[in-house]
Amino acid sequence: MVNLHPVLDLLIANGLVLDGSGNDGFRATVGVEDNSIRLFRGDASALEAKRLIGATDRVVCPGFIDMHAHSGLVMLAEPEHEPKVRQGVTTEVIGVDGNSYAPFRSTQDLDAFIRLNSGLDGDPALDLSWSSVERYLLAFDRKAAVNVAYVIGNSPLRINAVGWDAQAAGAHQVEDMKAMLREGMEEGAFGISTGLDYPPGSYASTDELVELSKQAARLGGIYHTHVRYQLGDRFLDPFREAIEIGRRSGVAVHVTHFYQRVPVAGAAERMLRLLEDAREEGVDVTFDSYPYTLSSTGLLIVLPGWVQEGGPKRLLDALGEPDVRERLHHEVSPRGAVMAGDVAHKLPESGEPCLRRPQRRRGCGDAGQDRGRRDL
Ligand SMILES: [Zn+2]
Repeated sequence: MVNLHPVLDLLIANGLVLDGSGNDGFRATVGVEDNSIRLFRGDASALEAKRLIGATDRVVCPGFIDMHAHSGLVMLAEPEHEPKVRQGVTTEVIGVDGNSYAPFRSTQDLDAFIRLNSGLDGDPALDLSWSSVERYLLAFDRKAAVNVAYVIGNSPLRINAVGWDAQAAGAHQVEDMKAMLREGMEEGAFGISTGLDYPPGSYASTDELVELSKQAARLGGIYHTHVRYQLGDRFLDPFREAIEIGRRSGVAVHVTHFYQRVPVAGAAERMLRLLEDAREEGVDVTFDSYPYTLSSTGLLIVLPGWVQEGGPKRLLDALGEPDVRERLHHEVSPRGAVMAGDVAHKLPESGEPCLRRPQRRRGCGDAGQDRGRRDL
């Protein structure tokens, strides 16, 4: 008698299969044989496998893709990457928020950039011997426990071509950045990212980002963006800029950590409508969103751009100057309050007031006062 089903390597029996297509799921047994997956509907009790996992009352689904991961350095130091693997993540988009770690022409700049972002991306002990995207990605190869999709931050491109200053990029510098982006994408990157609250990438104009995005689009890449949250009405204008970049460059835009900063009724619907209208118009725009109400970033975000100009070394020097500290003392708290969502927004057109948060949280200023010191 012919055995229709050879002994499989693995059977995951009788789970609710959610295959990622968006359907409601169905009962099935999933078999794994060599590198392929087979689905068995109905009674699978006759199947044999070297290993059996009962999945009744469980969901069986493909691995999750994390569209916004800050593990571009820590995964190199801890390639098992257990915090993510144990949550079922099998692919991560890294290099997000305009902050990525290749290409770098100077190890000194790479080192300074790692220190600058250590609040977000960590500062593990690593041998910083890569400079190209190719060499950087090789460091993950056959070591990292998850797949990575790398996007090149516009900050490293700017540091390499323009420097750390808040200045417009000249035509040659834009060409230089485009060439680095093209090379990096040919070496495996999936596109470009921005984090338009984070210097020096935040110094880029819309026109500059359109030019870079044209290059990404030409190679089938995406524009992955943490939008310029301080722009215009601070509500829809930041997303309008992202859509404009997609419209003018033809790039597929991905708005990352899409969230509602103006806590009034109907605001979320208006944000969604903005993106849906853009899609109808033909702009390829998508978003990701996280399912909790808090956000996180580095404390540096409360420092205004003018004091960060020139890079980390100049910033440290400036923080030692009494007149700079005096100016910051007046600017940091209001800025932090806006970031924390403590300031009452009004919808620009309707003037509708927002729902204030019921209680005030403690900030850095409070911690300073406890010690008899100012926030700066
Ligand atoms: Zn971000």
